[in-house]
Amino acid sequence: MAVAAKNKTVLVTGASGFIAGHCVRELLENGYKVRGTVRSLKAAGKTAHLTALADSLGGSLEFVEADLSRDDGWKQAVTGCDYVLHVASPFPLEVPKHEDDLIRPAVDGTTRVLKACAQSGTVKRVVQTSSVAAVAFGHDKDATEVYSEKDWSNADNCDPYPKSKTLAEKAAWDFVKALPADKRFELAVINPGFVLGPVMNADAGTSVEIICKLLKRDMPACPRIGFAPVDVRDIAIAHRLAMEQPAAAGNRYICAGDHLWVEDMAKILADEFNPRGYRVPTGRLPYPVMWLAARFDKALRLALQYVGRKEEVSCAKAVHELGWAMRPIDRTLRETGYSLIEHGLVPARGA
Ligand code: NDP
Repeated sequence: MAVAAKNKTVLVTGASGFIAGHCVRELLENGYKVRGTVRSLKAAGKTAHLTALADSLGGSLEFVEADLSRDDGWKQAVTGCDYVLHVASPFPLEVPKHEDDLIRPAVDGTTRVLKACAQSGTVKRVVQTSSVAAVAFGHDKDATEVYSEKDWSNADNCDPYPKSKTLAEKAAWDFVKALPADKRFELAVINPGFVLGPVMNADAGTSVEIICKLLKRDMPACPRIGFAPVDVRDIAIAHRLAMEQPAAAGNRYICAGDHLWVEDMAKILADEFNPRGYRVPTGRLPYPVMWLAARFDKALRLALQYVGRKEEVSCAKAVHELGWAMRPIDRTLRETGYSLIEHGLVPARGA
């Protein structure tokens, strides 16, 4: 693919983010020219690691300014691009004051990006980063169903983040369905589970925060919550495959492994890091204690509603249709931990 990719330019929105950064790396390593959007070109420090990587690979990487909440910049961003990976979307650790703080940038931002693509005359395909939050949320809490791409979250019954992801993905499918023939481009969607894996700089993404907390023992025990985890490097590969493979057009792909409780993640981390001087907690946080602690911790307050919930999703479609594969999650957890230490997000210890 690398040789064929040489003349293709890919726009990656939100290039300063955790997943987008790995997408930029994956594209550069496969010979694509990459343009990334950032909210401000003045914050060059947020993308310095990508510039250094492009230089070391002899790859082509440039940045342009565009904000999901504003029209300016998007036309310039997509001009001359063959593909767009639309990754940017607000992903906060806490519930926002108002749900529109998440929903408007997610939904209106998606429409802005897609409008610019339709007008570009060059963009052939957009791959949008959605989430299992657009698939498996807002349903009956006790359901034991394994969710697939046929399922949609019930947005009316979701907190603001899954609601924003569900509405943004629906907006994208509606947008491409309504396009006139002369403006048409293809859409494919990746629905990642809980994304872990090595951070590329000291600006850690929201999802690795739990690994930081465990390694720093910021919590004395593990809340009974869990996720369907996946490695950020595999998510970047999934985006590239969904961009390259003709049959991926018009499809959404869940990319996530088997459900893991935080306790299970903690045990893997404890095996690796406790002999190196860390004190990863592996016990279970009793619900009443979690409930009390949530009064002082906004992230715990958000987690409270998910206590006991299993995230059962199937990635069979991505495996069979994209030829996608996941690396073992224990390796992902260990490598996340080491990268957090390397970038100073978790203090280094002796041993
Ligand atoms: P990050 O917070 O690291 O990245 C989010 C990116 O979106 C940042 O580059 C951020 O820019 C950008 N962004 C946020 N708001 C705006 C805005 N108004 N205008 C322009 N850019 C904006 O999160 P992740 O990398 O983890 O998430 C990336 C995508 O993946 C999101 O769509 C998220 O919903 C999705 N996802 C993430 C999962 C996870 O577990 N991490 C799981 C499933 C889906 P800035 O740096 O300026 O803040």
